[in-house]
Amino acid sequence: MSEIKRCPMTTSAGAPVAEDNQSRTVGARGPVTFDNHYLFEKLAHFNRERIPERIVHARGSAAYGTFTLTKSLSDYTIADFLQTEGQKTDIFLRFSTVGGGQDSSDYARDPRGFAVKFYTRQGNWDLVGNNTPVFFLRDGIKFPDFIHSQKKNPRTNLPDPQAVYEFWANNPQSLHQSTILMSDRGIPLSYRHVNGYGSHTLSFWNENGERFWVKWHFKTNQGIKTLTNEEAAKMPAFGAQKDLVDSIDNGDFPSWSVKVQIMTEAEARNYRINPFDLTKVWPHQDFPLIEIGQLELNRNVDNFFAENEQAAFAPSNFVPGIGASPDRMLQARLLAYQDAHRYRIGANYNQIPVNAPRCPVHNYQRDGAFAGITPSLAGSGANFYPNDRATQGAPATVPAVAEPPMAIEADAWLNVYDVQDEDNFSQAGELFRIMSDDQKNQLVNNIADGLSQASKDVQERMFAQYEQADPDYAARVKAAVATRS
Ligand code: NDP
Repeated sequence: MSEIKRCPMTTSAGAPVAEDNQSRTVGARGPVTFDNHYLFEKLAHFNRERIPERIVHARGSAAYGTFTLTKSLSDYTIADFLQTEGQKTDIFLRFSTVGGGQDSSDYARDPRGFAVKFYTRQGNWDLVGNNTPVFFLRDGIKFPDFIHSQKKNPRTNLPDPQAVYEFWANNPQSLHQSTILMSDRGIPLSYRHVNGYGSHTLSFWNENGERFWVKWHFKTNQGIKTLTNEEAAKMPAFGAQKDLVDSIDNGDFPSWSVKVQIMTEAEARNYRINPFDLTKVWPHQDFPLIEIGQLELNRNVDNFFAENEQAAFAPSNFVPGIGASPDRMLQARLLAYQDAHRYRIGANYNQIPVNAPRCPVHNYQRDGAFAGITPSLAGSGANFYPNDRATQGAPATVPAVAEPPMAIEADAWLNVYDVQDEDNFSQAGELFRIMSDDQKNQLVNNIADGLSQASKDVQERMFAQYEQADPDYAARVKAAVATRS
């Protein structure tokens, strides 16, 4: 039998390692000596294996894939990857639960993160969405309070249904999303069986400088499949991760039909619904879904930490032709995500391979922890702009990709506006009314499991919210809570 030649084990500096089973000691029974630099390197690196856990979306699964455009959007946007039918763009998609830590379960009743990085020829575009078309909040100032209320009690470190419902009782704007969360869709069977939504209203602009408002939808081709609480309790904590890894390893590539809703600026001005309110959808009959492509996952990560734990999605990663909107939650996220990445991974997080664009990067940012060489700095030596070094390859701005100016209401004043009176109930009621009797029963029983553990005062305020959505919704929740009291 021929001997298999193994590749040499090395220190992190590349030197071959002679011994990795025993430390050097003074005699067979003596202490370890101070020249065991390899032992020290090994232990020191081990001490630094963890970076701060994400506060939300800590537990996730991710894979690479391909987005194929099937309908050109050149009338709406100059985005390079949305021009030619058949065009393919590499993507990376991370699914996650939201509230639990890394050691929680894949089967929590929780929204699922659905974050897609498109590695386009003009930079990375990140769509950082969820498996729900709306969110609990319409203003980012509430986000820390909301997450605190849904996580464990700070004293007991136990789940806290009183806090969950106390927050919702005080914030009727959460009713639409909490209705989705408590519905039969609240616990997906696997990540392959969820829809994805950009949720926010984003924008497109075309070469004529016209802007359109856009919502993105990713409809699972595997079908929506869900679990009841009882079924979920029997699942292994890592089941969704295993399902994704196994299906891709077996060549059973999951896919999604990619669709958009498009609204003109003129339509937005007169629309009965605030199109920038993240607690609301655009009803399909008003703005039909237009299918524009297919998204497929076809390659697992090679290293979970490097590619999943260090994956850094940011709603601020736009490319020419795609931009933000006046959605207030979106503006808060434009700041918060980049900030989280700098804290968790460092100033140069976009140089890590999973985050790095597949197109060249040329700018005048320099240095910081773990900085690589920015080609433009290497070539011209310029680290300032403007400069006179065009012939030496120093980069310059590209005015052709400037976003057209965004009109805001002429009488807009800077102030604090109370938006508690926005319609918080109609769309929750509409969702309730499209549910079958069985779905309505599942919804109200899931609500009652938690609400029955909250104070009477909180229960009464929640009943009043359900009543405004639909009297039958309230009657059913009250009856379900009564059976648990
Ligand atoms: P439609 O009847 O045209 O669409 C209803 C939508 O609701 C479908 O996309 C369906 O998804 C989805 N749906 C069904 N059950 C649930 C659930 N338990 N949780 C989340 N989504 C569900 O109606 P409208 O467009 O007028 O919207 C009515 C309500 O439907 C909205 O108030 C909203 O709650 C919900 N909805 C609307 C969406 C939109 O973008 N308009 C998107 C998703 C939900 P599927 O086709 O996959 O079965």
